[in-house]
Amino acid sequence: MKKLLIIIMIVALLFIGLAFLLNALSQSRSLQFFGGLVTNVETDEKVVALTFDDGPGVHTDQILHILRENDVKGTFYLTGYEIEEYFEDAKKIVDDDHEIGNHTYSHERMIFKSHAFVKEEIEKTDELIRQIGYEGEITFRPPYGRRLFVLPRYLSSQDKSTILWSLEPESYPEIASDSSKITNYVVENIEPGDIILLHVMYESRIESLNAVEGIIHELKEQGYRFVTVSELLQYES
Ligand SMILES: [Zn+2]
Repeated sequence: MKKLLIIIMIVALLFIGLAFLLNALSQSRSLQFFGGLVTNVETDEKVVALTFDDGPGVHTDQILHILRENDVKGTFYLTGYEIEEYFEDAKKIVDDDHEIGNHTYSHERMIFKSHAFVKEEIEKTDELIRQIGYEGEITFRPPYGRRLFVLPRYLSSQDKSTILWSLEPESYPEIASDSSKITNYVVENIEPGDIILLHVMYESRIESLNAVEGIIHELKEQGYRFVTVSELLQYES
């Protein structure tokens, strides 16, 4: 009886350990089993990419206005369901010549999903991105940065890299709630080849939206140039 209990405990511990490991692996910034993984680009050139996840949403006009006024091209990782919901706004992003990336259709975590599910999420969104008139390269960013086996394998079969990020000021609540802290965090931590992640499309992310202009001004002051993700990839030395 005692033996059985010990075995059950060992098995339970192994499962907990495995769950822990898979969770860490799904968010890893350096390890992925298949295909390319990009968090930043190794370069001495002062180039960085501004990336905006989710949307389009209620602040599309505002972010486009800021980027236009400052002559900056960004990369927008849009979701399929929001492209459908804000179709005209999505077209405006394309009309302003920004880069569009695929952020899945439903924005669900792409872990423990079937190959067919993952494939449909990405293909459907790619189709919508073409429907809004975008003709450039479509890079991919997984929701919450999460992926395990099925998603990377599918992406690698399609020759698509997983694009993550190297600067995420919003991951610290005390920074995320204050636009000047967001700007300062980026300015203090920036390095050539960085990929900056911000969410600016929703009402709840107004501080992030308000930080964009400051980030652009301060980094330009430091001699940085803003490029899209696919342009940044060309700088890999
Ligand atoms: Zn997202």
